[in-house]
Amino acid sequence: MEKVFIFGHKNPDTDTITSSIVMENLEKKLGNENVKAYKLGKVNKETEYVLKYFGVEEPETLDKIEEKANVILVDHNTFSQSIEGIENANILKVVDHHCISGFETKTPLFYMAEPVGCTETILYGLYKSNGVEIEPKIAGLMLSAIISDTLLFKSPTCTEKDVKVAKELAKIAGIDIESYGLEMLKAGTDLSEFTPEEIIEIDSKMIEANGVNIQVAQVNTASIEDVLKDQSALENAIQKYINNNNINLFMLLITDIINSNSEALVLGDKVDVAKKAFGEEIVNNRMFLKDVVSRKKQVFPVLMENA
Ligand code: MG
Ligand code: MG
Ligand code: MG
Repeated sequence: MEKVFIFGHKNPDTDTITSSIVMENLEKKLGNENVKAYKLGKVNKETEYVLKYFGVEEPETLDKIEEKANVILVDHNTFSQSIEGIENANILKVVDHHCISGFETKTPLFYMAEPVGCTETILYGLYKSNGVEIEPKIAGLMLSAIISDTLLFKSPTCTEKDVKVAKELAKIAGIDIESYGLEMLKAGTDLSEFTPEEIIEIDSKMIEANGVNIQVAQVNTASIEDVLKDQSALENAIQKYINNNNINLFMLLITDIINSNSEALVLGDKVDVAKKAFGEEIVNNRMFLKDVVSRKKQVFPVLMENA
């Protein structure tokens, strides 16, 4: 069989990286030897912590794909969040937990989508339905992604199924969810080695709605004020990004993982969309979003409705 490239979205998070590795593992167990996991960018601190903890190597980086290359997408489907050349690739499979948008194929494919908190929860189901046993190391990677995407089950994206699967995986991996989970999330809040330009791209996604280009970046923290201590440097980086990428509304969500709130830095020529969406004033380019932690469920939908 020809080579198959497996990867998640750009600005990779823990779910995207581990789901690629886990999908490679599952495909190989099913006898598809010629598959390989890749990443589309630098891994973040949280993912670094996870891979080190379980002694798993980082996937190689891929920056474009040849025409008709065989690919499997995990944790995304939207082409603008995918690799350069995806339009002309041969997409064999998608396993994802996002809305389907900006996606089409020329040939039939295997498409597995479920409205759960994490891609790994869907992959867990695929191991089960194929009768494949999950090794402890793989279980640890899967568990880490569920903790990451659901912020230790506190995000409104988290479903009962995610919690159930996480508990099963914790048993297999021999991990205490609470203590490991908090350490892992904390590792992801370390921004000390990142420039403002990098901070706004660690976890950043663009969606177009009604001709409005909306970019929402997110960082986790235990102290919002800590991240904003050099607010003007972040604003300069955001303004540069807006100019270079034709963005109309940029929101940097700074999410407090202890109290489950976010403060947003809001810039662009369409900040009115954000004001209308959340019914909040923007003061000093900031907007406080009480109980908001999920970009997917609590931010993108209301922004799209109001664009
Ligand atoms: Mg993701
Ligand atoms: Mg995900
Ligand atoms: Mg995420």
